[in-house]
Amino acid sequence: MTSLPHGRLNDSYGRSVNYIRLSVTDRCNLRCLYCFNKENAYYIPHPKILSYEEMTRVVRICERLGVNKVRLTGGEPLVRKNFLHFVEMLKESSPSVALRLTTNATLLADKLDALKDLGLMRLNISLDTLDRDKFQSITGRDFLPRVLTAVDRAVSKGFRVKINAVALKGVNDGELFDFINLARNFPIDVRYIEFMPMGGCSRWSFENFWSANDILASAKSMADLVPASTESAESRGPAKMYEIKGGLGRFGLITPLSHHFCRTCNRLRLTSDGKLRTCLFSDKEYRLRSLLRSPRINDDMIAKVIAKANTRKPLGFEILDKRGRSPVAQKQMSSIGG
Ligand code: SAM
Repeated sequence: MTSLPHGRLNDSYGRSVNYIRLSVTDRCNLRCLYCFNKENAYYIPHPKILSYEEMTRVVRICERLGVNKVRLTGGEPLVRKNFLHFVEMLKESSPSVALRLTTNATLLADKLDALKDLGLMRLNISLDTLDRDKFQSITGRDFLPRVLTAVDRAVSKGFRVKINAVALKGVNDGELFDFINLARNFPIDVRYIEFMPMGGCSRWSFENFWSANDILASAKSMADLVPASTESAESRGPAKMYEIKGGLGRFGLITPLSHHFCRTCNRLRLTSDGKLRTCLFSDKEYRLRSLLRSPRINDDMIAKVIAKANTRKPLGFEILDKRGRSPVAQKQMSSIGG
């Protein structure tokens, strides 16, 4: 038996990590205007991408360090071959870890039964518009009908569904009422995420930035919103949630720019090529792939590297400089694992 350090991944600011976001692949079948930047588009060569066995090993090591929740993301996780088999591997190898999935839902509908059998019942679905033409202009693909079918089926099969929409002024700000109604009429949490200047995103500007404060003010004029109880685990996460009076679902805001939530950050990220990131906005990465591939390195050694990296987790970042440019987060979300 190895002597892995047990207990939580603590840092010197009193934060404790129990959550990993794992990028299963950097590939995606959408070309979202805020995420995909043609100029610096780059795909990690396949041999550099961690195998499912390697990813499973990292999760197992993290489980022993106190991680109890793993979100599978990307890129688009469902474009990677044998994804369901990977979920099965994780479930077997780390039974105490709760698995979650973030997906664009374009390839989801026919995998719902298998996911349900595997006990993966919580889905974050990214959907920025309910208008078919707009969907195509945002994502470059005419896939809205598939996404809506998947959302509909997921809800009727009892999945817990959250819809995340990137707030884009001049693009989807006219649809706030429709999104609130979605949360009102179905047991779905709809959350707007402030647009972040990731990956040197050439599209980001103050003109298309729609702040959470402005969204909330408009939303309050459209629905009776009551702050959700702070008792639930979600309320302690980055989203500020509101009950909609008379509604089945809730409405929420995720505010990476206007209200940082770094002091309560409980997560690490692992990129698909095995780089550990302690902060979304820091490009400091800790390379695990060569360790995972070395026959001389055991789980204890990797655990120590992860624990040490975590002690250096930054307390926060100024995401924008005075000119509205982002000096941090030079990688695209798809390669970090959004
Ligand atoms: N393909 C999956 C999906 O679509 O949910 C997972 C990866 S995607 C990169 C994860 C999330 O990041 C999505 O909700 C996407 O909208 C969000 N995202 C990407 N770039 C962003 C940006 N610049 N600002 C805010 N959110 C962003």
